[in-house]
Amino acid sequence: MSSYDTVLVDTPAEGVARITMNRPEARNAQNLDMTYDLNAAFDAAAQDDTVKVIILAGADPHFSAGHDLRRTGKQGLGTDFPVVGHWGGFAEPGAHGRMAREQEIYLQITRRWRNLAKPTIAAVQGRCIAGGLMLAWACDLIIASDDATFCDPVVTMGVCGVEWFVHPWELGARKAKEFLFTADAWSAEEAHRLGMVNHVIARADMMDFTVAMASKIASKPAFALKMTKEAVNRSMDAMGQQTAIDQAFALHQLCHAHNQQEFGMAVDPGGLHPSVRKPAA
Ligand code: ZN
Repeated sequence: MSSYDTVLVDTPAEGVARITMNRPEARNAQNLDMTYDLNAAFDAAAQDDTVKVIILAGADPHFSAGHDLRRTGKQGLGTDFPVVGHWGGFAEPGAHGRMAREQEIYLQITRRWRNLAKPTIAAVQGRCIAGGLMLAWACDLIIASDDATFCDPVVTMGVCGVEWFVHPWELGARKAKEFLFTADAWSAEEAHRLGMVNHVIARADMMDFTVAMASKIASKPAFALKMTKEAVNRSMDAMGQQTAIDQAFALHQLCHAHNQQEFGMAVDPGGLHPSVRKPAA
């Protein structure tokens, strides 16, 4: 088993790497350390020819509560953490720095994981909130436990959904609007009915089921698996998915800029828990 500060990697079956987010005390909320640990673990699995399928999991009890926005520990993009995209200027003030930062850690890094040249399976239990959706959606398949719930509450915070905007592709346009407008948490069964989730499995059996499916996939020829993933992803790209994500990302940045002008912070404080609200600057 390899280990990073915030991520565990093991081999639950031949040809299968399992990357487990391991900040259960923070409901596996994704801080910068976890973002770059995940990226390093994905890269290592991609480069390891003995790995044919990758499982992304979260240490119990929850898959992921989303992005951890608390500024603790290392913060230096490009210094503490290696840049994976093509943006810089992370310390610039205002919209400049924010867009650069979100390009790097949310948009471009998620696109890298989405295009990783091996099949990936998200194993989702408990809560999967906001940025947690981005992690699951970046994977090729999603297996959910029967207690899993999915929610993007970002509209409540004055922003038009999380940075990796694939909601219409995952849920269909009309249900995507309901999901975003209401910020309701939807059950695994509802996500399955809409085609967002491949299978819903009893919590106790969910990981065994996921590993068994990964093993079945790992028995197939590696190159054919890679080409199949490429073929499906490029089909989505040809249908305009990348362009749609990019335009929604620009609107997301506009929302942050609006909130900054209106409230002195990048999100509408009315949508934050009272304990983390701060007065407008
Ligand atoms: Zn944002």
